[in-house]
Amino acid sequence: MVSYVDLGATLVGIIKTGNSAIVIDTGISSDHAKKIAKAAGCVVKTVLLTHLHADHAGGASFFAEQGADVYISKYEASFLYHHELNTALLYGGATPQIYRRPFFLSKSVNVQAFEPDVSLNIDGVEIRPISTAGHSIGHTSFLAGKTLFAGDALTSPNVMAKHKLIYNYCPRRALAALERIKDTDFTDVVICHKGEADKKTAVEYAELQKAHILSVYDDISEAVREKPADIEGITRFVCEKRGLLLSQDSYILALSNIKGYLADMEEKGELAARFVDGKIISERSMQ
Ligand SMILES: [Zn+2]
Repeated sequence: MVSYVDLGATLVGIIKTGNSAIVIDTGISSDHAKKIAKAAGCVVKTVLLTHLHADHAGGASFFAEQGADVYISKYEASFLYHHELNTALLYGGATPQIYRRPFFLSKSVNVQAFEPDVSLNIDGVEIRPISTAGHSIGHTSFLAGKTLFAGDALTSPNVMAKHKLIYNYCPRRALAALERIKDTDFTDVVICHKGEADKKTAVEYAELQKAHILSVYDDISEAVREKPADIEGITRFVCEKRGLLLSQDSYILALSNIKGYLADMEEKGELAARFVDGKIISERSMQ
């Protein structure tokens, strides 16, 4: 039996297997994990994580302490075991205090790694991990029967409109992940942020999300149209253009997010990075 529990900011999947359960994602904390355990109403033997972000993996240590096996893609296993790698990736160095908070830094977990796109058989239930990398370095969606748990690879339009700039580690791969979701055979999808949808609606959401990502490339082109700018300047331009009122957390995410877009645009030959006057700036490519 496949269902989900609403934790407020996120939805978490529950798959019953006789008298135990598989949980997909854990919320941000032990309190969330306890709510999930209560909703499951039986022993949680297995936790599958879509990705390493703390609002999905923060409750995993609670389940591990209760004896559950915790699994994540082999591309992200090190990040949960050496949990500071997650914040190091976001910051680009050893973790400073402003990153040392539950939103960014979850507890270390002794995880097991799975191979993306190789089916798992857990207590007689077949679950297919589908690589949907892009939002994070090894993001995975899970197909159980005809239900797809899409994690953060797919976002509801109302959440996209609210946040104005959705996070992607690598936007180019996030676009490919949306195509992968469209090509996957499912009848309904559970979206962590947030809701459920049928396949037709999911395809519409995927198209809207593609348009969202493409519009950020356009904003960055505009940011450097007249003159080169550094990463901080481009990030502020894009956020202001989109009407995003920055908080400390949203700025931290936006800085990392925009770097992914700049990397894509350099690879496509649209931008070039140069070291000028003591800083790295991006400028329109002269090709
Ligand atoms: Zn995430």
